Amino acid sequence: MDLTLTQEEREVRDWVRTFVTREIMPLEPTVLERERRGERGLTLEELRGLQAKARESGFFGVLTPEEHGGMGLGALMAALIEVELGRSFVQFKFGGDADNILFAANDEQQERYLRPTIEGEKVSCFAITEPGAGSDARNIRTRAVRDGDEWVINGEKTFITGGDVADFALVFAVTDVEKGADGGVTCFIVDRETGWTSAPIPTMGEWGPASLSFQDVRVPHSAILGEEGRGFELAMRWIGQGRYLLPARALGACERLVEMAMEHAQNRETFGAPIATRQAIQWMIADSAVEIEALRWLVLGAAWQVDAGIDSRQSQSMAKLYGGVKANEIVDRVLQVHGGMGYTRELPVERWYRELRVLRIYEGTDEIQRRTIARNLLAGHASVRGHLG
Ligand SMILES: Cc1cc2nc3c(=O)[nH]c(=O)nc-3n(C[C@H](O)[C@H](O)[C@H](O)COP(=O)(O)OP(=O)(O)OC[C@H]3O[C@@H](n4cnc5c(N)ncnc54)[C@H](O)[C@@H]3O)c2cc1C
Repeated sequence: MDLTLTQEEREVRDWVRTFVTREIMPLEPTVLERERRGERGLTLEELRGLQAKARESGFFGVLTPEEHGGMGLGALMAALIEVELGRSFVQFKFGGDADNILFAANDEQQERYLRPTIEGEKVSCFAITEPGAGSDARNIRTRAVRDGDEWVINGEKTFITGGDVADFALVFAVTDVEKGADGGVTCFIVDRETGWTSAPIPTMGEWGPASLSFQDVRVPHSAILGEEGRGFELAMRWIGQGRYLLPARALGACERLVEMAMEHAQNRETFGAPIATRQAIQWMIADSAVEIEALRWLVLGAAWQVDAGIDSRQSQSMAKLYGGVKANEIVDRVLQVHGGMGYTRELPVERWYRELRVLRIYEGTDEIQRRTIARNLLAGHASVRGHLG
């Protein structure tokens, strides 16, 4: 078993590491100041500028297939990249990506939505969650009723990432009440011009989702993505596109946070000696390092399975669950090592503390991941011996 990176993987990882160090991290003080004032950390122009700079070096569409102008890099590489991006709290992502389910769109939809999304001309959002249906996404109530060549959509969506800025939404609505999620949910591509409204939802983190409201919103029949009645499968495919990527980003954050804790511990003296000499502090650092290492292999193992075409759902759920739980424990320890300073708004530690919390909630809560993991084991779809058997 060879666990070393290939030369290509190392080169890509190192390029991103340099980009983050040179281009992103210097922006951190400004981004933090703006966020403290309630403004967007990175302006859209700055984001586009950075994305354009990266594109000059060929960094565009990490997971987007080459025939669509992307790099088509694969899951392992995407995970390695995400770890590096996670080392900064600046909300940067490379340009050129699009919702995976849009790649299955018909030619006309690809021209109208996929291509502009890849090029950054249009912004999408994925809208399944409703006030009455989160973990239980099968229970959505938004209705789409056929009227001649059109569909009329009514309902409410909530917690939709990017929902307040999106040009179009991928909306999941019930088209056959009898069948529900088993053949009666359809995905519609719904332009903002059709009249749906959005309102931001303030959260404890910096990533603000939005609520969306659909009142007699009319779309043509051609707005259906995929097949009528097959929307729930598309939703599951969207959610399954990269569960390993969320903990990968958190992994990068944890690495940086523990480095900050170590530096602080070596410089901060109490009772005549650096706190790094105290066992209580050392154990926090040691536990965090072990958990970071375990998380690294859970993430890379899941990504490797995706690339190998193996059913990776169990591994992805494990990486997501462990990443969410451990990232929150680690950031709490790092805050503790910083003492009172960790609690202030002078350092980004409390910002990470707030932001990492959402990892335990979105794209499947801890409890839902545990439910998936246990069910797979109990039904014999997965083994406690893991992938190697
Ligand atoms: C910042 C943010 C961004 C988001 N972005 C999007 C987005 O872009 N698109 C989108 O569609 N949705 C999005 N969501 C919604 C997110 O996926 C849901 O919040 C999540 O699935 C949980 O649903 P809920 O909030 O309704 O909680 P509930 O489902 O009401 O759960 C409440 C609690 O009960 C637990 N629970 C529920 N069922 C069970 C069970 N069977 N057994 C044990 N415990 C259970 C949960 O784990 C949780 O602890 C986002 C949410 C947040 C916070």
